[in-house]
Amino acid sequence: MKFNEITLCLDMYGCPNRCKHCWLCVTPNGNMPVSELTDIAERFRPFTDSLQIYDWYREPDYKDNYRELFELCGRLSDKPIKHFELVSFWRLVRDGEYVKWLSSLGVKTAQLTLFGDEEATDFYVGRKGAYREILRSVDILMENRITPRIQVFVNKNNIAGLSHIEELIKRLDLDNRCRKFGGEFSFFLHQGSCDGENEKLYSVRVTPDDMAKIPKLLEAYTLKHFGKESISEVFGQTEQSLYNELITDNSTADYVSDSPVFYIDKDFNVYPNVTAPAAHWCLGNLKKQGTENVLRNYLESKSPSQNTRLTVPICDIVKACGDKESLCLFGKGDYIIFLLNKFCRQ
Ligand code: SF4
Repeated sequence: MKFNEITLCLDMYGCPNRCKHCWLCVTPNGNMPVSELTDIAERFRPFTDSLQIYDWYREPDYKDNYRELFELCGRLSDKPIKHFELVSFWRLVRDGEYVKWLSSLGVKTAQLTLFGDEEATDFYVGRKGAYREILRSVDILMENRITPRIQVFVNKNNIAGLSHIEELIKRLDLDNRCRKFGGEFSFFLHQGSCDGENEKLYSVRVTPDDMAKIPKLLEAYTLKHFGKESISEVFGQTEQSLYNELITDNSTADYVSDSPVFYIDKDFNVYPNVTAPAAHWCLGNLKKQGTENVLRNYLESKSPSQNTRLTVPICDIVKACGDKESLCLFGKGDYIIFLLNKFCRQ
């Protein structure tokens, strides 16, 4: 059994936030010993000549020894690993060395998430003080010539708060301040996928009539970010329209890849990175079943969700779990995953 490439992402320490849109789910934080990184890399090494390993899949750089962990991941990986544009705002405001380290790695853009004003952002991040920390982080990043990119997740309950974000971008003069150091400020909004915690917000998912509530400036930034012509291309189709399309579609799908990415939770359970790491996607436990069995379960689509998608036509899943009257907006792939998760839980 040999894969072209394997990427491993460990949830070693979890996350300081409890976001209500978190597609990875809000689960208790762990505290894996650093030695597990080496041990897990060794377990997978016989199965590929190209291994990549990361110490996080929720909050990057959350643990105080983030530099040591990044360097260790680099040594254990077969190709140089890079720091993504995801950073920890929790650490940005608590650790003056952190932004310098990000700069030294060549990070030029960092993404931060807002949900509206202070009250809305603290509520959706699940932590009081989050909004102020994010605003402070915007300044810290720009002082160090890193361009902030702001994203907003919208639903029916917070979409009216977009006017606050528009005002904020203007008041902070983000376009000009970024331009001064050669950066280009960017922003986008979307509804997010409908899995993990965000699935609980299905009842307030945006519908076509909400699109008119998006301020023109924020719409323009969003279209530029996604390279789209219209906001409806960003938000997708209504559930009703997707239902009508998929109800006659008897196709199935295979999630097996020659270059898989696996999530490994704090208890060593392994999941393919298709959607939230939920029980019905679990491929087994590394310590109990062993790596070979976990990989075989993946290749043979043994997790209930992989197996369902491979054997049950999508029209049957839609018939069982879709709502043909719903005007909620979805991308097609996100809608299929939403229904698949629902179907498997039932
Ligand atoms: S969305 Fe990101 S920051 Fe929020 S709880 Fe999930 S992993 Fe943490």
